[in-house]
Amino acid sequence: MSDASSSARLVSVDGIPGRDRRSAARDDARQRGNRLTQAVKSWFGNREEDVLEPDQSGQEPSIFQRVGAFLQQNLLEPTPPHYELVYGYVLETDRRLVDAVDRAIVREGLLTAEAADLILAEVRTDMSAEFLANLVDKAQAGLSDIAGLAKQSGADAKAYGQALESKVADLQGDDSEGAVKALVQLTSSMIERTKAAEQQLRDAGKQMTQLRGSLAEARRIAESDALTGLANRRAFENKLRRAVAQARETGKPLALAFCDIDHFKVINDTHGHDVGDRILKFVAQRLASASGNNCFVARHGGEEFVMLFEASTAEAAARIVNEVRADLEERRLVAKQSGEPIGQVSFSAGVASLGPKENGRQMLRTADQALYRAKREGRNRVVVLGE
Ligand code: GH3
Ligand code: MG
Ligand code: MG
Repeated sequence: MSDASSSARLVSVDGIPGRDRRSAARDDARQRGNRLTQAVKSWFGNREEDVLEPDQSGQEPSIFQRVGAFLQQNLLEPTPPHYELVYGYVLETDRRLVDAVDRAIVREGLLTAEAADLILAEVRTDMSAEFLANLVDKAQAGLSDIAGLAKQSGADAKAYGQALESKVADLQGDDSEGAVKALVQLTSSMIERTKAAEQQLRDAGKQMTQLRGSLAEARRIAESDALTGLANRRAFENKLRRAVAQARETGKPLALAFCDIDHFKVINDTHGHDVGDRILKFVAQRLASASGNNCFVARHGGEEFVMLFEASTAEAAARIVNEVRADLEERRLVAKQSGEPIGQVSFSAGVASLGPKENGRQMLRTADQALYRAKREGRNRVVVLGE
């Protein structure tokens, strides 16, 4: 699929007869774009009382004014975290932050304080994981350098010892016995010292191997989601990059599913955050049950999950996702501690395949559009967008 708007084919896997909904998809995208444009206009735009009107000198509003206007228009308290988030959004410091804010606005009409807090928490978690992982990368590179150096020093020391030993052999025929003896002694002690240094280097090498193991463990932690135990978004993005490269190399297809639990906010509001957390874990387990089969499952953030299917078409991937969806739909959940019935929990999913000229990010965007469509068409369904 080279262009979602021109070659989009939407198929609902949920038993809705497949028909060409190309124009509907275009309308959908247009509507979504219009809403966003409207929203942007209303923050930065041309209403008379707008603080963003260029001043007498015709100058553009300052960043401070833009941030302030955004906060005001979205009824957000001017707290430091909100400033931090909106500053990042206005200056587009982080693509994911911008996308997350745009998505929240498209869904809810404005950026609510709750959505803002959630986005901030995610960005911060990502940043600390990113920081840790970078540190691990650097430490590992440094360790390799030291290990190489240690090996080289060991080899040098050995060569030096051998040269001294041969010199001693040459000197043994000399007349000056005392000098020779002293030289022999000195040389012997140098050889000993060299051997001790070699041993120290060997020990350091062992310690480095152990440290490398600890760093690998730190990397594993930095790449997994603490609540569900699934891979986190960072791990997913690394995996996606590798999988796209692999797909290009082998010419095999690659498909991606973006899954989002339906009405999760209501579940939280009705049963509490802890029950919400357990449901997140449960759904994560159900999705992970589809892993293997060249499928990589990760928590993308909040109540959103991604599944990457290597060597698979979008249709085949959608069938597997739909099986998980149908299985979940059949279950009636009960809160373990209180025995309170929760009832049915469902998720919607959008599936896309990697188009010939697309990158992973574009495929993700298409899957997100398909998810949006699944939500609009009534939730608890899987929609495929693309070829
Ligand atoms: P939709 O069907 O349109 O997806 O509606 P929704 O309510 O699922 O979506 P919305 O984006 O409005 O709400 C998502 C909620 O997920 C809001 C947020 O409080 C909650 N959430 C995000 N992360 C967590 C988490 O780690 N634990 C819990 N319990 N809730 C979370
Ligand atoms: Mg969501
Ligand atoms: Mg949801």
